Amino acid sequence: MWDASKCDLCGDCLVKCLYVDYDKDKAVADIKALMEGKEADILHKCITCCACSEYCPTGADPFDLILKMLEKTRAFPVAQEMIGFFEGAFAIPNELIPGDPDKPVFSLCIMEHWLPDRALDSQLFNGLTVVKGGEYFCLLGYVHLGLESPIEKKAQEFIDKLASLGKDIVFLHDDCYAMVNAKVKDYGITVPFNYMHLFEYLRNYLRDHQSSITKLGKKVAYHRPCASRYTPEKDAFLDEIFELIGVERPPRKYERETALCCAASIILVYPEFAAEVQAKNVNDAIECGADAIITLCPMCDRALRRPTTQYGLRKIFITNLCRMALGEEPWPELAA
Ligand code: SF4
Ligand code: SF4
Repeated sequence: MWDASKCDLCGDCLVKCLYVDYDKDKAVADIKALMEGKEADILHKCITCCACSEYCPTGADPFDLILKMLEKTRAFPVAQEMIGFFEGAFAIPNELIPGDPDKPVFSLCIMEHWLPDRALDSQLFNGLTVVKGGEYFCLLGYVHLGLESPIEKKAQEFIDKLASLGKDIVFLHDDCYAMVNAKVKDYGITVPFNYMHLFEYLRNYLRDHQSSITKLGKKVAYHRPCASRYTPEKDAFLDEIFELIGVERPPRKYERETALCCAASIILVYPEFAAEVQAKNVNDAIECGADAIITLCPMCDRALRRPTTQYGLRKIFITNLCRMALGEEPWPELAA
C-alpha cells in the first residue's frame, strides 16, 4: 500500500522503469505530482508491470500510488476484450476434484485453459485435491487494466472461498499467491489457512524424489511474471529447483529485478510496443546462451508463444520442465 511517509523522493522507481527513459528530475516531478493527486506523464506511459514497487528502496510502494491514479484518471487504455475477460472470469463454474484427505488442495483458479499440453499430467500432483473456477480466481490481474477497486471488492470473498476448503492450499497462479501473501494485507484481511507457492511445492517434491530425477544438463532462462513483484523472495525456490534437476540459469539482462513484462496487458492497446518488449525479452534469453525459456504464469506462457516461435527459442512451462527431469516427457524440439 502506498505510504507517502516512506517516500524520500529519490526517483529510483521511475528512473529504473524499463518502459520509460526518465532522469531523476523527471521521475521526482512525476512522483510529486501523483502524491498531490495530479496528472503525470507516467500515467500515459506505464504498462502496469508493478516493478517500481520492487525498485523502491524504502518500501513506499509507488506502483500502488500509480495504480490508484490510473483508476482515478482512467489514463490506461483498456481494450474491451480485457474487460470482458475479467467480467466473465468470475462466472466460470467452480469444480472440486477430491484427492487424498491428507494432501493439500491445488488451486488452478481459471488458469487451466491457458496451460500448455500435459502441464499437470504428472506424478507431481498425484493425490492433490483440485479446485478451479471463477470464485477461486483472485482478480489481481485487474492491475493490468489500471484498476484496483474490483480486486478489493472481491478480496474477502476470495479468501473465504479458499478458507471454506479447510485445507492447505498450493497455488498454480502466481497472481493468487501474490494476492494471498501480499495484497490482501492492504485490505486488512487475515488469511486463515496455510498456503504455498507452486515453486515451493515443486521444490519439495523434487527434493523428496531425487532418485527419480535425471539431470537435464541444459541452460534455461526464466521469464518472471509481473505478479512476482509482490513476492520476489520465492525466486530462491526456482534456483533450488534448477539445481535439483541439473539446469543452469545463465545470467541475462532481463531477469530477477530487471525482468521484462510478457506484454500481455498491452498487446491489444500498444501492439508495436508489445512486440518490441517481447523481442527484447526473447532475444536476451537467446543471447545469454539459454536452450529454452521457462514460464510460471499460464498467461505469460500464452503471450510468449508467438515471439518464442518467431525468434527460435523453446518455451517450456515450469511443470513441463520438471516432468522432463522425471522422465515423463522428452526435451522438446524447436518449434518450426
Ligand atoms: S508499473 Fe512498471 S511500467 Fe509502470 S511505472 Fe512502474 S515500473 Fe514503469
Ligand atoms: S516511491 Fe520509493 S523509489 Fe519512488 S521516489 Fe519515493 S522513495 Fe524513491
